[in-house]
Amino acid sequence: MPDRTRYDLDRDDWSTLLAAEPRFRLEQIWNGLYHQGRDLSQLSNVPSGLRDRLDVDAPLALTLVTESVTDGGDTVKFLWELEGGARVETVLMHYADRSTVCVSTQAGCAMACSFCATGQAGFERHLSTGEIVEQLARARSRAAEGPTPRRVSNIVFMGMGEPLANYDATWAAVRRMHTDMEIGARHLTMSTVGLVPGIDRMAAENLPVGLAVSLHAADDELRDELVPINRRYPLEVLMASCERYVEATKRRLSFEWAMIDGVNDRFVDAERLADLARPLRAHVNLIPLNPTPGYAVRGSSGNRVRAFRSELEHRGVNVTVRDTRGTEIDAACGQLRAGHEATPVQRPRRRTPS
Ligand code: SAH
Repeated sequence: MPDRTRYDLDRDDWSTLLAAEPRFRLEQIWNGLYHQGRDLSQLSNVPSGLRDRLDVDAPLALTLVTESVTDGGDTVKFLWELEGGARVETVLMHYADRSTVCVSTQAGCAMACSFCATGQAGFERHLSTGEIVEQLARARSRAAEGPTPRRVSNIVFMGMGEPLANYDATWAAVRRMHTDMEIGARHLTMSTVGLVPGIDRMAAENLPVGLAVSLHAADDELRDELVPINRRYPLEVLMASCERYVEATKRRLSFEWAMIDGVNDRFVDAERLADLARPLRAHVNLIPLNPTPGYAVRGSSGNRVRAFRSELEHRGVNVTVRDTRGTEIDAACGQLRAGHEATPVQRPRRRTPS
């Protein structure tokens, strides 16, 4: 993984790079890139000769391959190529009250969740801190463009990869986003398959970000199948770690639940899920399963999702049904594999019930 790209460099690195320049340059560039969220090319107060040198000495990490827009302009998916040729995606979503960026932390993923397109593709490599931070920087400038500029307020670590399997780079990115890009801890959400050592490390950090656990099953037998890492960190161990996280950070926990027809959408699943969620006061996010090439089972019907939701609510659990943003451009949860195609192709329109 590279460590010298533009957003990998910390202040000291920049200070070294700018050693021959007047002192104020460091502040000018750091502020421009981070606090003002501008590209180097837009920093017109920096001499163009210096900008040219920095383009070489502090190169960008992400090369845009394609940008797809859907939902009337409210969802933008970026497909990037990284050094070495791996590809990852970032999704920018505008809502009435906020704009959210969904970032990737690895090219591919080693967790092998059966229903997830990234998991089906396998692991390529970790992303560096700079490669993660740059996704936000680039999405943020894109959001600020156009007739209705928007400010990115929320970040979710729900793109490709398992963030806690790339802990150091991911956490350094979280810190940079929080400290230098003005994203409050409450507006950062880490999503994980449930790597217990990583959750415990997060609990010990002094930055209480939101935690989303991709549960999908509330009994070990089914979870072993859907989320294989469950064999290493079974539910009892995972729930104890979630409890420690909530205790240490006082942050709300959420459980992600992709609704899979006849697999995890039965009455008994709602009952077991409620039993796990209630004591932790966890919020449940139901995500209608997005179809992926390697998993033949369908998502639950709209009726089934509604019934499951009522069952949980009846048992005192807070539930939301996540909308399937970006489905048409394969930007929905677990679908980002489309980005692995060497050349962008026009895909048939697909819809899932939302
Ligand atoms: N590895 C992390 C973050 C990336 S996935 C994690 O597992 O949490 C983000 C979310 O999308 C996870 O909850 C994941 O389980 C879910 N997801 C993956 N594939 C999906 C699919 N085909 N349909 C719906 N949700 C999916």
